Amino acid sequence: MFYRMSCAMKSEKGLLKSQKGFTLVELMVVVIIIGILVAIAIPVYNNVTSNAAERACQASLRTVDGAAAQWVAGGSGRTLADVDAISTLVEAGLLKAAPTCPDGGALTITDGVAACPNGHTY
Ligand SMILES: [Zn+2]
Repeated sequence: MFYRMSCAMKSEKGLLKSQKGFTLVELMVVVIIIGILVAIAIPVYNNVTSNAAERACQASLRTVDGAAAQWVAGGSGRTLADVDAISTLVEAGLLKAAPTCPDGGALTITDGVAACPNGHTY
């Protein structure tokens, strides 16, 4: 009888001891670590997306310049100075559509040189 009670008390005591959880300090440390990681990740993410937009715009500028060169080569007497609108290249079938900059705005072309309204160059 005494043994059983002793075991029951021990197990109850053990049960109380085995209740695990996090202290407030431990939770605060975890939240601070997560905050530091987010503070590092957000600027990196923004930088990566900005670089991707610039590279995409540069690819579009190269494509337009290439289409302009093709348009000049496709007709006798044509020069790059004659290419003053991207619509000329679209109507000639050299571009499917007028490309836009990922940061906003339509690309333009002057004297056969494509330009971005946001100042992207290649
Ligand atoms: Zn651009």
